[in-house]
Amino acid sequence: MSDDDKATGRCLCGAVRITLTGAHKEVGVCHCGMCRRWGGGPNMAIEVGKDIEIDGKEHVTAYRSSDWAERAFCKVCGTNLYYRIVEADDHVLCAGVLDDPDGLVLTGQIFIDEKPAFYDFANQTKTMTGAEVFALYAPPAEET
Ligand SMILES: [Zn+2]
Ligand SMILES: [Zn+2]
Repeated sequence: MSDDDKATGRCLCGAVRITLTGAHKEVGVCHCGMCRRWGGGPNMAIEVGKDIEIDGKEHVTAYRSSDWAERAFCKVCGTNLYYRIVEADDHVLCAGVLDDPDGLVLTGQIFIDEKPAFYDFANQTKTMTGAEVFALYAPPAEET
């Protein structure tokens, strides 16, 4: 991957700048109540894992929103930046942060059972309920 392929992004004020060090084009939407309260609407985000470089980290504040994850934003302008699974250090970048949305594809919608009735996306995507999401990501009970 050449430098030209590296996706870049930034917050509203530019204090925080993001560079993706891998190609990630699949956008997922989360309809859960926490995401909607966080951003004013469903959260559209891209699982980028550890393929992320953050400039201006001193301007990033993270709110620990659950036992396993935090939600980061720019403390200057309030732009939501990413959701991070703390233990795994996996980042889920808010899609709106990226400078160039060309090539992004909406591939999935999660917590579809928490979606309020007042909106619907026309995109045909996979959908998962909250229970299905937890079943997929939670470790099997036998292993605890
Ligand atoms: Zn900012
Ligand atoms: Zn959510």
